[in-house]
Amino acid sequence: MKELKNLIIMGPPGAGKGTQSEKIVEELNIPHISTGDMFREAMIQGTELGKMAQQYINEGKLVPDDVTIALVKERLSRPDCANGYLLDGFPRTLYQADALDELLKEINRPVDKVLNIDVDKEALINRISGRRVCPKCGNSYHISYKKPHKDGICDACEGVLIQRKDDTPESLKVRLDAYENQTKPLINYYQSKNLLASIDGLQDIEKVFSDILLVLKGDAR
Ligand code: ADP
Ligand code: ADP
Ligand code: ZN
Repeated sequence: MKELKNLIIMGPPGAGKGTQSEKIVEELNIPHISTGDMFREAMIQGTELGKMAQQYINEGKLVPDDVTIALVKERLSRPDCANGYLLDGFPRTLYQADALDELLKEINRPVDKVLNIDVDKEALINRISGRRVCPKCGNSYHISYKKPHKDGICDACEGVLIQRKDDTPESLKVRLDAYENQTKPLINYYQSKNLLASIDGLQDIEKVFSDILLVLKGDAR
């Protein structure tokens, strides 16, 4: 079986995309390209991009397509993507998906597989409200389901964990609407290209990961 290393992971906010991405990129040795992480980094650094994105993100709205696409274009053109990539949180609109097709033609690495993490709404609310993230490296934790070894401290880099500003009930409502209206149509888009693999995201973290490995390598652990 051909190695699948040109990957997209999608799913509603809180589905577990970031959590699984950490494990996938370690296993496959490919860069993790998370537009959400990139925006958050820009916000911390206070760049123009960060300031612009902040107003949208805190309200739960999507950042405009042209800005987001430019960011991904620059990232995909770097040499570390020559061996594959994992896109997390991009594309989120049909317009972004079409633009991505063009970008990937340019670097000659068309998508091999789109992993769609399936989770119901009730679980999402639970996961988002208990999520804690590391602002330094982007890793995510949960107060019940994925506790760090040391309370409030990132296992990977010892950063102090925080709650994301957009992980509030108000913002989550807007984000779920954005997902339903703008992102969910991508499921059919990739299904019709025969690229979609749906994964039951309600299982525990390790079982979700072994199902993903089954799709990518044909070997479950
Ligand atoms: P989640 O973990 O909830 O899925 P992300 O960390 O992927 O969220 O993204 C956080 C926020 O960053 C989004 O709510 C949105 O405002 C912005 N964002 C991230 N990726 C995109 C994108 N591809 N297009 C537009 N906005 C984006
Ligand atoms: P996304 O990137 O899709 O928004 P995250 O990976 O940040 O989602 O996960 C959201 C929250 O749910 C985090 O607190 C994470 O620790 C937790 N989580 C992720 N996957 C699972 C799972 N399979 N079971 C229980 N909790 C999970
Ligand atoms: Zn960290």
